Amino acid sequence: MTERNPLLEKFDTAPFMKIKTGHYKPAIEEAIRRAQQDIEQITASSAAPTFENTVEALEFAGEELDRITSIFFNINSAETNEEIQKLAQEISPVLTDFKNDIIQDPVLFQKVKAVYENKDSLNLSIEQSTLLDKKYKMFKRNGANLDAGQKQELRELDKKLASLSLNFGENVLAETNRYELHITREEDLEGLPKGARTAAKMLAKEKNKEGWIFNLHYPSYIPFMKYAKSRALRKELAIAFGAKGFHGDELDNRENVLQIVKLRHKKANLLGYPTYAHFKLEERMAETPEKVNSFMEELLEKAKPAAEKEFHELESFAQDLDQIDRLEKWDAAYYSEKLKQKLFDLDDEQLKPYFELNNVIKGVFIVAEKLYGLNFQQVFEAETYHPEVQTYLVTDEEGKEIALFYADFHPREGKRGGAWMTSYKSQYRQKGKNERPHISIVCNFTKPTDEEPSLLTFNEVTTLFHEFGHALHGMLADTIYPSISGTNVFWDFVELPSQVLENWCYEKDALKLFATHYETGEVIPDDLIQKIKDSATFHEGMATLRQLSFGILDMSWHSKDPSGIDDVKAHEEKAFETTQLYPEVKENCMSTSFSHIFQGGYAAGYYSYKWAEVLDADAFEFFTENGIFDRETANKFRKTILSQGGTEHPLTLYKRFRGKEAAPEALLRRAGLIPKK
Ligand SMILES: [Zn+2]
Repeated sequence: MTERNPLLEKFDTAPFMKIKTGHYKPAIEEAIRRAQQDIEQITASSAAPTFENTVEALEFAGEELDRITSIFFNINSAETNEEIQKLAQEISPVLTDFKNDIIQDPVLFQKVKAVYENKDSLNLSIEQSTLLDKKYKMFKRNGANLDAGQKQELRELDKKLASLSLNFGENVLAETNRYELHITREEDLEGLPKGARTAAKMLAKEKNKEGWIFNLHYPSYIPFMKYAKSRALRKELAIAFGAKGFHGDELDNRENVLQIVKLRHKKANLLGYPTYAHFKLEERMAETPEKVNSFMEELLEKAKPAAEKEFHELESFAQDLDQIDRLEKWDAAYYSEKLKQKLFDLDDEQLKPYFELNNVIKGVFIVAEKLYGLNFQQVFEAETYHPEVQTYLVTDEEGKEIALFYADFHPREGKRGGAWMTSYKSQYRQKGKNERPHISIVCNFTKPTDEEPSLLTFNEVTTLFHEFGHALHGMLADTIYPSISGTNVFWDFVELPSQVLENWCYEKDALKLFATHYETGEVIPDDLIQKIKDSATFHEGMATLRQLSFGILDMSWHSKDPSGIDDVKAHEEKAFETTQLYPEVKENCMSTSFSHIFQGGYAAGYYSYKWAEVLDADAFEFFTENGIFDRETANKFRKTILSQGGTEHPLTLYKRFRGKEAAPEALLRRAGLIPKK
């Protein structure tokens, strides 16, 4: 290497402007070599393994690699191009190989195991003990304790599972793409807004057809179910949507479902766990299937009466309006939308002028200042990967540096959709120095134009607060080890800091600080705030029941021995028994297209959506009891949760904050499902 590679020089803030695409791969390869050397030093050492020379050394090996890869993958999400995407395809397997080499290194494992087995005599701090558990489990959960034959079996199971999941996903995608609802008579579009009609017309045009085409992709499907007056067509589309992977043909996923759950069970048994749910939940806040099941049962018992009441109200509304005798699944979104319009008469256009982007940014900063004494000052020295990215120096009340904060708000060609928080440098302590983190949020909010500044929908406002909540978790981190710092926590705990901050968007005392009309300067009126609150909990009972039904189905597949199951539909009907409001649709099956659990990472984890909501509502209730800007409460949240990362079990951290475990009542109260206190 003759030319200097900026990624391999010592840097503090990421040297974005000096990096060329050609720098990434050689830098990552070199950083892997250096990390390998660090690890070889651990394994080659003749000294007896200790926490410091093994576990801590392993933790800090590859720190440089982490920083370089975080820059690379963050750029691939926020400012990518074909060259970078292609590079990601090359780099990902190299990194996987490196990780596998570590996990499968028998000498390294024996050393970690020796320390682990000596744990009680080592006088470790709580954080050190957590780190040791984490490292040991990383090996164990990947089969390091198995004999050679079992290791081979595990590898084969993993391979089969990967290919079954892939095939499952391909079938769902092919099913989604092969269906279309072709409409040729304009009167069949009655009720649909202009945007949905135009999109359908364009879809037809792409396929050289007359009229309008709707399909099973959400942007096409959802508006049709919400607004199309034709009940027969809604039925047709809904049944097509619910029958994915359930047609008894080459795309049928029933066999895949059965194979996947059976092999997962086998894998769990091989690794020493009674079921796949036990295996997954070992590294979750919820800990055991029993706890997840009783959590869902309790919520179900309390939400069901409200859901039934909402359902009957919707039934009589549909009866009065259109003489519907039996409300079906394909009526749900349509009549809910009609009833919502009747009750609230609230749309985004009314709210947007009060949420000009710069005002909302000021809003999150004021909230962070009032709660945690943080100060955000825009700075211009740090390099960025795009001129639109803003950087802020975050300091505490004494002027001490807390973090560097990057904010990237608007869509660009090279940015993927959605909104997320990420980091360029973790917080950690080494050689007596508390290294402060570099945190970033990336969003896709409407760009300002010559006529109008960027005005956010209310949904975008809560999104900004959500991501900023994750950012606070990263910025206020105060631990020793980077792999358990900030947002490196169990994944059913990670949404607590983000979701809890969303609550401030619904509070008068917070909104009045920043929600002012961008032209007139008028502060948002009380009746609009009330409407935002009321409409947010509309039909929350039915929504809760629906989420629970998915969570219960997920656990029914993963928390018991599945070897006796041979009929997917019959199994599913039984799992849905307690959550069913609408008549059963015999042509449909949920499991055969339930990608979250059969393709994505949500197996034995779907409950976590509700779990996180229970946590955030319970935590926020603590704030409301003491005042939403109470410094003492905020300080406690910072000390016990935000600063702690994954240093202790989240249940312990949470109880330290709240004085008790989270109970579902706060969520039910907030959702209006049980009376307020
Ligand atoms: Zn989140």
